[in-house]
Amino acid sequence: MSVDQAQLDRDHLWHPFTQQRSWVSEEPPMVERAEGTELIDGDGRRYIDGVSSLWCNVHGHRHPGIDAALRAQLDRVAHSTMLGLSHPGAAELAARLVEIAPRGLSRVFYSEAGATAVEIALKMAFQFQQQRGGQHRRRTSFAHLREAYHGDTIGSVSVGGIDVFHSTYRPLLFPAHPVEPGDAADLERVLSCHEEEIAALIVEPLVQGAAGMLVHPPGFLREARELCDRYGVLLICDEVATGFGRTGTMFACEQEDVAPDLMCLAKGLTGGYLPLAATLATERIYEGFLGAPAEQRTFFHGHTYTGNPLACAAALASLEAFESERTLERLGPKIELLGELLEPLAAMPAVTEVRRRGTMTGIDLGEHDPELRLGHRVTLEARKRGAIVRPLGDVVVLMPPLSISEDELRRLVAITAESIEAAYASAYPALAQAA
Ligand SMILES: *Cc1c(COP(=O)(O)O)cnc(C)c1O
Repeated sequence: MSVDQAQLDRDHLWHPFTQQRSWVSEEPPMVERAEGTELIDGDGRRYIDGVSSLWCNVHGHRHPGIDAALRAQLDRVAHSTMLGLSHPGAAELAARLVEIAPRGLSRVFYSEAGATAVEIALKMAFQFQQQRGGQHRRRTSFAHLREAYHGDTIGSVSVGGIDVFHSTYRPLLFPAHPVEPGDAADLERVLSCHEEEIAALIVEPLVQGAAGMLVHPPGFLREARELCDRYGVLLICDEVATGFGRTGTMFACEQEDVAPDLMCLAKGLTGGYLPLAATLATERIYEGFLGAPAEQRTFFHGHTYTGNPLACAAALASLEAFESERTLERLGPKIELLGELLEPLAAMPAVTEVRRRGTMTGIDLGEHDPELRLGHRVTLEARKRGAIVRPLGDVVVLMPPLSISEDELRRLVAITAESIEAAYASAYPALAQAA
């Protein structure tokens, strides 16, 4: 190879969520190809994609059905706008999403990222309340869960609660009302204290992913729905991480039979192929925006690449694969196996807790000096052993593609256990020697 691409990366790139000073001192792993559950680097080394390429990939890489749908779409059109025009894929996908979504969600608004899906839900909720008029115009703020993560744009950060990511931007954020995660009594306190001031509550249903796989107690989502109804507050479910099978059902909301007023989808929507997001709304919210043009009830929001035809084609093919491969039916036994495989890890001295909902797994290594970068050490050790994992601080995350085989799942968990052991030994050499 004549060009040293690793050097080009170090010279010119700026990576997300990355301290570049550490990055440029390491050899960047370059993914050149992929196949099924495996990523392949320039030297042909294979790695299990243990976090679904950041929680996106669903049916594996280079899925024949999705590949073919994309090629066919390329022969028709790669992009045309949704402003003043439509296209068949956008319309068909909207109909499919409404079909599989929790009851009552009947309208689909596209964008490109989880963060934008959330911005859109927040703006829709706000504008809906404004346009209801009267007392409802006072509903100008939002309730959200502490340690929530809804994306990195300013509105999404305003309803987020992960201090290391968010505290720097505090002066830029709009005020919002934080609620203890999973605590219905606290939610009721907040909603009653700020009665008639809150437009909507936003939650990650069942599990707060970026918080380190914080699992809510059963029934919390149901109670949240009931409290929102009691206090006239809209419920926004951010299913960006939980959607498309990660918790064992198509959407996490289903497990508590909850239908939100607004639902945000992104990550797994295209099977992990292309950036596409959707904000789903009820007919009631949609109708709140109808009127004569001069009434200015229009939702003035849109992104240039909204509803991109290639992305819609990938999403339709991904939903097709869910059916033809019976992805969710076949997932049950894998989730059960994952639970069994994790039992010995939970018993490891280096592990304080394993939290999991479906395939979304957080292996908590406890409190350590951040300088030790224990979670990062696990990543490096796993890479040596043929798996890609990315931690949240010192919580090791596993979230493999739903298509992972049982053998690959065994290999992934075994590598993770060995890597935790090795990372611990390298972070605490004296301890390792004594043992
Ligand atoms: C990842 C994530 C987002 C942000 O999605 P992006 O596509 O990265 O903007 C929003 N909400 C949740 C729950 C997420 O996990």
